[in-house]
Amino acid sequence: MAEFQGVDFLRLDDDLLDDDEKIARDTVREWVSNEFLPVVQTHVRQDGSFPMELVPRLAELGLFGANLQGYGCAGMNNVAYGLVMQELERGDSGLRSFASVQGALCMYPIHAFGSDEQKDRWLPPMAAGEAIGCFGLTEPDFGSFAQGMRTRAEKRGEEWVLNGTKRWITNGTVSDVAVIWARTEDGIRGFLVEPDRPGFESRDIKGKFSLRASVTSELYLKDVEVPDEGRLPKAEGMKGPLSCLTQARYGIAWGALGAAMACFEEVVEYSRERIVQGGPLAGKQLTQAKLADMLTEITKAQLLALRVAQIKDQGKLHHAMVSMAKRNNVDIALEVARKARDLLGANGIVDDYAAMRHMMNLETVRTYEGTHDIHTLILGKEITGMAAL
Ligand SMILES: Cc1cc2nc3c(=O)[nH]c(=O)nc-3n(C[C@H](O)[C@H](O)[C@H](O)COP(=O)(O)OP(=O)(O)OC[C@H]3O[C@@H](n4cnc5c(N)ncnc54)[C@H](O)[C@@H]3O)c2cc1C
Repeated sequence: MAEFQGVDFLRLDDDLLDDDEKIARDTVREWVSNEFLPVVQTHVRQDGSFPMELVPRLAELGLFGANLQGYGCAGMNNVAYGLVMQELERGDSGLRSFASVQGALCMYPIHAFGSDEQKDRWLPPMAAGEAIGCFGLTEPDFGSFAQGMRTRAEKRGEEWVLNGTKRWITNGTVSDVAVIWARTEDGIRGFLVEPDRPGFESRDIKGKFSLRASVTSELYLKDVEVPDEGRLPKAEGMKGPLSCLTQARYGIAWGALGAAMACFEEVVEYSRERIVQGGPLAGKQLTQAKLADMLTEITKAQLLALRVAQIKDQGKLHHAMVSMAKRNNVDIALEVARKARDLLGANGIVDDYAAMRHMMNLETVRTYEGTHDIHTLILGKEITGMAAL
């Protein structure tokens, strides 16, 4: 396989990325080419599984909680973090999702809202890939409107008793700890629940066309007792889960770029070699129009992601900026993947080519972490001051 080059039409590498950022990106790029891409087809073809044997290597590369400080985390800046998310999703959205859930949705809330004991107990093994986390917010009847959740936590003496169902939970059946968001008398609170607690069950969701190289589960909690030390003490109300989502959505804005770049590079190479009507597909005007659109959209999305990264590193990030980046970058990535699939013709429907796998994955990425529409409404509120949600 030729080494992946990425897209750098406006020469970000020359002036806008420093050496550490480029090294982080290139290290993950090489790892994805050498160790992930050779196995992804098997996991997608089989009944949807994640290559768990790669977890120790992901940890060694510092990819779990990569932008967090301390506790064995890599402490990357947000540009480097974004670039490594890009490279992971160039492999597959399932690979980036694994790192996002572990880092942004589980390690981040423990880091931001946990007690010292919780941080000491969970963050080092999670950074080392020795403990896996999942994030339980969505329920069968409450996705976009998660604050409607029915899962309840009641205080009985020193224990909390949790009841409810969480659905569409990435890594639910392979986790050592679940961050469960539940309604209490005082509003929404977060709990660290270990799956071996009596009353806790998890089951995988089968039949997915999208994100097949990722475990997606349903969690059932029936009178699950969690000691008060298992509650995240500093998480109060929906601000808790929403701030985790902002972290994960930030990573997605970069990750989607990786999926788009993979499709773009694949189809440029293919169109040079595919002969139609006496000449390469790449030489036809309609092909060039599609490729020009793809390159332009990827480049605009790169600049958007990079600027959001700089603002995040300055501590001035507003969640609506992340909404714009997630909404736009996933949208253009999906469009790039669809155009690439189209240009590949019939070959585009088989998994010898990556475009359709990315396209199907990106349908999930468009839906999870705030649907495209929900981010539209977040931006609408920012523009008008009126909440349409
Ligand atoms: C593979 C996968 C992995 C996931 N992993 C996790 C995870 O780890 N943890 C977790 O908690 N969740 C996870 N999710 C759940 C995901 O976040 C939800 O699917 C998402 O929030 C959307 O919720 P929903 O599916 O219930 O769709 P709905 O909220 O029912 O939305 C359906 C449609 O209605 C639109 N809509 C909703 N509200 C409005 C409105 N007010 N106005 C106009 N249109 C509206 C939406 O944009 C969408 O088009 C995952 C989902 C998938 C598919």
